[in-house]
Amino acid sequence: MTSAPPTKETTQESESFRAAMARSDQAWAALDRDPARFRVLTGDRPTGPLHIGHYFGTLQNRVDLQNRGIETFVLLADYQVLTDRDRADTIAEHLREVILDYLAVGLDPFEKNTTIFCHSHVPELNQLLLPLLTLVSVPELERNPTVKEEIQAANLKSVSGMMFTYPVHQAADILFCKSQLVPVGKDQLAHLEVTRKLARRFNERFSPETPVFPVPTALLSEAPVILGLDGTQKMSKSRGNAILLKMSEDETRAALMKATTDSERQIRYAPETRPAVAGLLRLLGLVTDQRPESWATQIGDGGGGALKKHLVDAVNAFLAPIRQRRRALEAEAGLVQKILAEGNARAREVARETLDEVRRAMHMDYGLGDTPDPTH
Ligand code: ATP
Ligand code: MG
Repeated sequence: MTSAPPTKETTQESESFRAAMARSDQAWAALDRDPARFRVLTGDRPTGPLHIGHYFGTLQNRVDLQNRGIETFVLLADYQVLTDRDRADTIAEHLREVILDYLAVGLDPFEKNTTIFCHSHVPELNQLLLPLLTLVSVPELERNPTVKEEIQAANLKSVSGMMFTYPVHQAADILFCKSQLVPVGKDQLAHLEVTRKLARRFNERFSPETPVFPVPTALLSEAPVILGLDGTQKMSKSRGNAILLKMSEDETRAALMKATTDSERQIRYAPETRPAVAGLLRLLGLVTDQRPESWATQIGDGGGGALKKHLVDAVNAFLAPIRQRRRALEAEAGLVQKILAEGNARAREVARETLDEVRRAMHMDYGLGDTPDPTH
């Protein structure tokens, strides 16, 4: 079979992907040489406790970057929760759950150079949104493919200005701390492109001599996408198809026993034809550090039952130390408040410095000097 010649669009897409890959490879090499030069920003929306897909997809990588000595900012994007839902009454509980998950997997704001903070308490970061909004046109916002997808996925009847502008808010998140590196999956490259564009535009328009913002680089990882237990879509907090890091062993067993398999007795690793079984074999491979194919051979004609039995044991063994740490942390009164208070104060300090620089570049400092530290 001959394939169709690539269209102009796909050629451009793959070219920009290749360019992003090359930049990412260079960034990894630079990180190895001099980690202390870099800042990284990552984060999550506090919409529920984290799952094993988050662990392999992103958390493991964040802990690795932190442990290399890189200054790591971890944002709980609480305002962004309200892009696709109306109410904020569960945010506090979700925020607590996510912070406990972070600590349990090894993010460490006390001993390492890691700052955990949230949008709603860092006003200087949010103010940065205003100058950035002046640099983007409405048609550009309307064209953004990720925003279109999110709107469709959430089945929104009316789209708020918050949803519409969230790639710009995300640019403010990345630029407030002048993070040069942003770990993302391939699917999120389009998002980072907005930030790169806005950083360049700001520099060109307001500070062509000495650029205020670095143009951040996507740090692409090999992070796998973990399939949900329904065997059809990615594991997700809000789709009831996840193994949560915080689950008990019994809850894990119950969830895995309900996982979709198929009626074939012989277990084979065939992602194309048997995606549900392949998803479970991949998960088993990840938690035991073995290849899914070798698990398939080992299980042979034991069927879905044997596969699930191995999975229950292996997932519970893998998560046991994380869960143990989490339980100990849950019992510490005031821990989450302490982390957020310190993290928000540090984020404000950094954001204030950036905002002062931005005001100067825009000739809006009016001779008033730098903003005094509001916490002193
Ligand atoms: P929600 O259902 O609220 O959208 P979610 O489970 O999809 O939640 P997000 O907060 O949207 O989680 O995702 C945060 C990050 O976690 C993603 O950018 C991605 O890197 C990672 N992630 C989420 N789900 C998976 C998964 N199933 N496999 C691998 N990585 C994942
Ligand atoms: Mg999601």
